[in-house]
Amino acid sequence: MNPCSQNRKLIVCLVMEALEEQEAQPLRLHLGKCERCRNYFEEISHAAQKLNTVKPSTNIHASNAFHQRVMGALRAEERIPAWQMSLVQLQRSFLNWRVAVPVLGTAAIFITTLCLSIRQPTVPAPTLASAGNPVPNASGPKPDPEPTISNYQTVANHSLEKLDELLTRQGTRTSSSTPVYTASSLAQVNALE
Ligand SMILES: [Zn+2]
Repeated sequence: MNPCSQNRKLIVCLVMEALEEQEAQPLRLHLGKCERCRNYFEEISHAAQKLNTVKPSTNIHASNAFHQRVMGALRAEERIPAWQMSLVQLQRSFLNWRVAVPVLGTAAIFITTLCLSIRQPTVPAPTLASAGNPVPNASGPKPDPEPTISNYQTVANHSLEKLDELLTRQGTRTSSSTPVYTASSLAQVNALE
């Protein structure tokens, strides 16, 4: 149902509260008498309310999930052996953990750190002040930290690249008795078959 043509713009302006009072006053009087204009006014009001209730979308979570899907697909493509896949899974869970941090807040981090330090009393719990400095050592070259969850968290806090390097190094070390299959060596095996 169309409003009176001369009132169409004015009605929209009235809904948007962009009308001077001397223009709004006669229009309201008209709305009281004219059903077509009144219906149009209600229609526009309803649409404006809907627009106001639409919340701005948070693209951060969507892009994080997308990034991890892409990374997961890329790693699956590389034909990584099972033991390395488990390390990748572990690493990915840390990525999730990092994504969750802003949501959970610092209290949850503190509780997590506390729980981990209770469960592993031999490893000094990383305090909030020293979380960025993984395992300082005065003598000789810096060795890798023990493969514990709290140490991984410390490294992940510092840099995800460092965590990646650490996981790769420890994965290579713990499986030194078995042959290491890389993507290229698998390709060679496939070519021989
Ligand atoms: Zn009218």
